[in-house]
Amino acid sequence: MARSRNLTRLATRGVRGLEPYVPGKPLAELEREYGISGAIKLASNENPLGPPATVLEALRGALPELALYPDGSGWQLRDALARRHAVTPEQITLGNGSNDILVLLAEAFLTARSEAVYSQFAFLVYRLAVQATGASGRAAVAYPATHRQPYGHDLRAMRALVGPRTRLVFIANPNNPTGTWIGTAELRRFIEAVPGDVIIVLDEAYREYVTGIDYPDTVPWLREFSNLVITRTFSKIYSLAGLRIGYAMSHPQVAEILNRVRQPFNVNSLAQVAALAALRDDAHVTRSREMNAKGLVQMRDGLSSLGIYTAPSAGNFVLADLGRPAAPVYKRLLRAGIIVRPVANYGLPNHLRITIGLPDQNARLLLALGTALASTGGESS
Ligand SMILES: *Cc1c(COP(=O)(O)O)cnc(C)c1O
Repeated sequence: MARSRNLTRLATRGVRGLEPYVPGKPLAELEREYGISGAIKLASNENPLGPPATVLEALRGALPELALYPDGSGWQLRDALARRHAVTPEQITLGNGSNDILVLLAEAFLTARSEAVYSQFAFLVYRLAVQATGASGRAAVAYPATHRQPYGHDLRAMRALVGPRTRLVFIANPNNPTGTWIGTAELRRFIEAVPGDVIIVLDEAYREYVTGIDYPDTVPWLREFSNLVITRTFSKIYSLAGLRIGYAMSHPQVAEILNRVRQPFNVNSLAQVAALAALRDDAHVTRSREMNAKGLVQMRDGLSSLGIYTAPSAGNFVLADLGRPAAPVYKRLLRAGIIVRPVANYGLPNHLRITIGLPDQNARLLLALGTALASTGGESS
């Protein structure tokens, strides 16, 4: 390496203060490090059913076209999404994962002098996307652990942080890692109370998993509130996390702004083809939602038998409070070939986020967790 210099100093102020996002440990990495096989990953809220055969077939059909650039406008997929949601294609922006959209929003609307509001314990990417622009992120104090939505977004506290410099507000509904959600009337009241020149991002990455609760249908609100941006993803219930594709629905002017800052070919051709096929496979979505609902019961009951409380979750994961440092338990589970997600980086060092897997994966996790809890005792290292 060349003579050392403090190159970090050359980065912008916002970037100098950033800490990289820590993703769930990849399966291959665990197996390599521990010399084991047959490990399972319940760490990144992926769909354990995997992509359906309809999607795999569509992908095979698209392989011969790989020498060509993708359709930079994503016309076919945007058209299909527009029909599905009863909006116009001009209201849809495709992203390289919905994470891409979150970053584009920050790039397009924030400067070092502006502010963005999100909740404490909200999806970490909001803070990272905001900080990278040099803008100030303002985290509203979340509901307490004793609330019926533990660690959930307190929209009154968020509203109180919206000021003259606020350009963006991020709301995850349901939120990751807490699994908490916001009901229809409460969310609507918040949107009505926020000035129309503040962009409100409603991140609905898990919306297709939601079942049996009061949960807002926000797409029709786009007609009333031009400052709304709804983000969705193909990474979760649609089982395409590896391909990186998500989208936003917004006012056409906001979509047009995002279109200026996105890379010309931000969504690859296989992702577009797979998303189109996945969108048509309603049976896979229904199957996944039903399996998840049963898995949530299995997981919460099993955890409760181990003396671990988990709040109801609107997503495909639970946030488990171990009542003691989670890191040693996390490591024991790794040795047992199971990856879950520590959330100390969210300020929750006693919690683990566990993705709902297939029934036998859930059972394996519960068994291993019982052993891990017994063998790590109450000690804290
Ligand atoms: C997983 C997740 C996303 C989606 O990420 P992609 O970039 O679309 O894979 C967005 N928001 C939340 C809250 C998530 O948990």
